[in-house]
Amino acid sequence: MAQDMTNKTSKIALNILKNNVLCTHCLGRQLALIGSGTTNYERGSAVIISTIMNHLLEDEEKAIKSSKIFSKTKHSYAIETYKKLTGEELTPTEKCRLCEGIFDKIELIAKRALDAVSDIEFETFLFGSSFPPEWLVREEELWTEYGITTSESIKGHFNREVGKKFSEITGKEFDRKKPDVTLIVHIPDIRIERYVSSIFLKARYRKLVRNIPQTRWPCNECDGIGCEACNYTGKRYPTSVEEEISPLVVETFEGKDSKFHGAGREDVDALMLGSGRPFVIEIISPKKRHADLEELTRKINEKAKGKVEITRLEYTDKDLVRALKENASQAVKTYRAKIYCEKPIDKERLKILEKKFTDQQLIKQRTPNRVSHRRADLIRHKVVYSVKIDDILNQQEFVAIIECQGGLYVKELISGDEGRTKPSFSELLDNNCKCVELDVLDVKEKI
Ligand SMILES: [Zn+2]
Ligand SMILES: [Zn+2]
Repeated sequence: MAQDMTNKTSKIALNILKNNVLCTHCLGRQLALIGSGTTNYERGSAVIISTIMNHLLEDEEKAIKSSKIFSKTKHSYAIETYKKLTGEELTPTEKCRLCEGIFDKIELIAKRALDAVSDIEFETFLFGSSFPPEWLVREEELWTEYGITTSESIKGHFNREVGKKFSEITGKEFDRKKPDVTLIVHIPDIRIERYVSSIFLKARYRKLVRNIPQTRWPCNECDGIGCEACNYTGKRYPTSVEEEISPLVVETFEGKDSKFHGAGREDVDALMLGSGRPFVIEIISPKKRHADLEELTRKINEKAKGKVEITRLEYTDKDLVRALKENASQAVKTYRAKIYCEKPIDKERLKILEKKFTDQQLIKQRTPNRVSHRRADLIRHKVVYSVKIDDILNQQEFVAIIECQGGLYVKELISGDEGRTKPSFSELLDNNCKCVELDVLDVKEKI
């Protein structure tokens, strides 16, 4: 059986090499799917050596022939054997039909890749490559021509070899799923392209003053270009939660940019209190991947003092961004609302209001007038878990604590939004109610 196998692989190898020049790597690759735990170079080498050795035992003429053919691969055993048998020294110069000698440049390529990442911090990497399409076509043609079904692709082979060498040089680890950096080698010019993976940090923010949006809000008049209306800032509001936090984060990690992902958002004029609202900040193309997060928290809170405050800053990953968006409507939110009534407040009716909202009251809410320009007009079903009257300030004003499902428009729950939200405070109190101050006291997330 072993003899048969040697014969088969010998036949395939000799057959190909009779009319083609292949390097040992590419020869071995044609047999890549036969067994594992070795490299393609070793496979190629094993076929060359075992074939010639068998021929040496059988018949010298055969050995001369095969060592001459295998010398095309530039394998030293073939060249040396041929020299020993004939006294003639072969110096094969023709390039490999499949790789044009790329596999002899693995070390050079790995070093070039190292140069390409010399200015960034990373622990893990992934290699990719871009080969000219005609290179891939000519390998497929070879497979068809010789009926080869045991080869792997040149790309897979190349990426693995350059990755191994890179790991050897740098001591860094290969990671297919979440590499810190991805390196693409462009063949044949050996140009290296790099993608540095984003860093994701999660934390919670509290917003201590009104009239700060969560994220940078471009001026409506000029679309952010800058005009008289926005005092040439391009912004509708001078700052935002994002702008109080992101610049220091980007600076610390030496990123190119950042993205701010909040778990929902409060209105511009609402405070965000309690334990704060979860958010994720994505740092794009960071040069640094490690920082003292306590120190960073301290810096941010010092800069944003009196406006924004962050807590629980820690590393997270991309998956959390999706979870944040998906869970936003599952979160339970607690609001404190100051409510103004057109007519004097009827205290008996306030009790009715509290009672109505004790048992998971379902709210039907058509997209509010004030957001209908940017949200699809549809009816949402949201739950109010409880409403507690916290304080009656005067004949026309009271304060309520509202616990409800994320995504409910609380201002409209109070006003009724001309009948678009049902039931509403206005309806239940038989009064025209308006929310004049709204604060988020708590956001309970599943994360
Ligand atoms: Zn080759
Ligand atoms: Zn403007």
